[in-house]
Amino acid sequence: MGLEGVEYKVSYRKVKYPRLEFKGGGLLLILPFGHDPEVFLEKHRDWIVKKTEFINECLRDSLGKEIAQRTEEEFRDIVYFIVERTSRELGVKVNNIFFRRMRTKWASCSPKRNLTINSLMKHLPEGLIEYIIFHEIAHLIEKRHNENFWSIILNRFNNYKELEKDLFGFWFLIQRSQKTALNSAGQTRSVAEDFTSSLKGIG
Ligand SMILES: [Zn+2]
Repeated sequence: MGLEGVEYKVSYRKVKYPRLEFKGGGLLLILPFGHDPEVFLEKHRDWIVKKTEFINECLRDSLGKEIAQRTEEEFRDIVYFIVERTSRELGVKVNNIFFRRMRTKWASCSPKRNLTINSLMKHLPEGLIEYIIFHEIAHLIEKRHNENFWSIILNRFNNYKELEKDLFGFWFLIQRSQKTALNSAGQTRSVAEDFTSSLKGIG
């Protein structure tokens, strides 16, 4: 039996294990040849329902929002300023800041204390840029997403769950705006995967 209200497509590929992806709010099942989609759907029903609800909620919330337009310079100034202030606040030093386009996360922090910022972050409201940077720098104190980590975050952002959700919605908006920009430039290649399938989080 299928899942009511959840649309899905099936793609049979030469893969070893079945896999689920969300594309544009719809579900894509990637299956090895010979697998029955219904069996797989049934097995992961709870996860699919939960994930679908979360995505729909994020999409609904993102509808009224607009993405920010900044120059590269304005954006970098904001980032440098926030990194400086946050590293002082948390008492940890960041070595370098790199900017590049990333496909699956907003930012990351390496053991060498280098911060990598997804250049797409320039379209976010400042409050969310601040949250991402704080989150990354907090990882220099606590690597893992454990209790200790979230208590550092909670200390400063007691609404972080809300912010994480906002980020998800903005990911979708930004990816869509990138695609639109590309298409109007006459290119057909899609640079960005749909947010739902590719976004793993902040990092
Ligand atoms: Zn993290």
